[in-house]
Amino acid sequence: MTEPAIEIQPERARPFLQEVTERSGQILTACYQCKRCAAGCSVGDETGGFTPNLLIRAVVLGDRETALNNPLIWKCVSCYTCGTRCPNDIQTARITETLKKMAKEAGIEPLQPKVADFHDAFLHSGMRWGRVNEMAFMGMYEMKNALREVRESNYEAILEEIRTQAELGLSMFRLRRMHFGFLASKGRKEIKALYKKAKAKKAAPSAANI
Ligand code: SF4
Ligand code: SF4
Repeated sequence: MTEPAIEIQPERARPFLQEVTERSGQILTACYQCKRCAAGCSVGDETGGFTPNLLIRAVVLGDRETALNNPLIWKCVSCYTCGTRCPNDIQTARITETLKKMAKEAGIEPLQPKVADFHDAFLHSGMRWGRVNEMAFMGMYEMKNALREVRESNYEAILEEIRTQAELGLSMFRLRRMHFGFLASKGRKEIKALYKKAKAKKAAPSAANI
């Protein structure tokens, strides 16, 4: 398979690399492109050849457009397989999460809108209740999904989603895997405070942007 093209942008490389390093906590410059991460990536067949080592290369070479706009950041399932295989202990899952957030902050249209909706609904539920309540979380996800499809006049997709989710819900119900209650975590105030603190820290000017 031909490798996706990555542009070298020397003038932008340093601040971008610094920002991704600070936000992800990963030393990207330790990567020597051995591709052990690529060989074990759980979503390797789904990303059109865009592997974890290529993501790191895009950041190191300053190709911001590619790093913020590729299938891997939206399809990564945070399984940490790549991190356990990496001889330099680079956890690409933290890098994909960081780049996904940066793409959202930059207003880049997600390549996988459903994944973006799922991500938003998951975070919202976790922040509100201190844990993810399945019914509230799935309700919000489906609402976001349906609104987007309505905006695109994609009514067939809405019907298909209702059908597949109803089938799935029924099977889960039969297997007693559906939880209807709303359980709030005792520490949800602390979780909200942590979230606010993290947001305030992100809003503050970082050394990379000065
Ligand atoms: S396994 Fe680690 S060092 Fe090797 S290419 Fe992947 S990130 Fe780089
Ligand atoms: S954490 Fe993401 S990038 Fe790493 S192996 Fe799993 S799916 Fe692939």
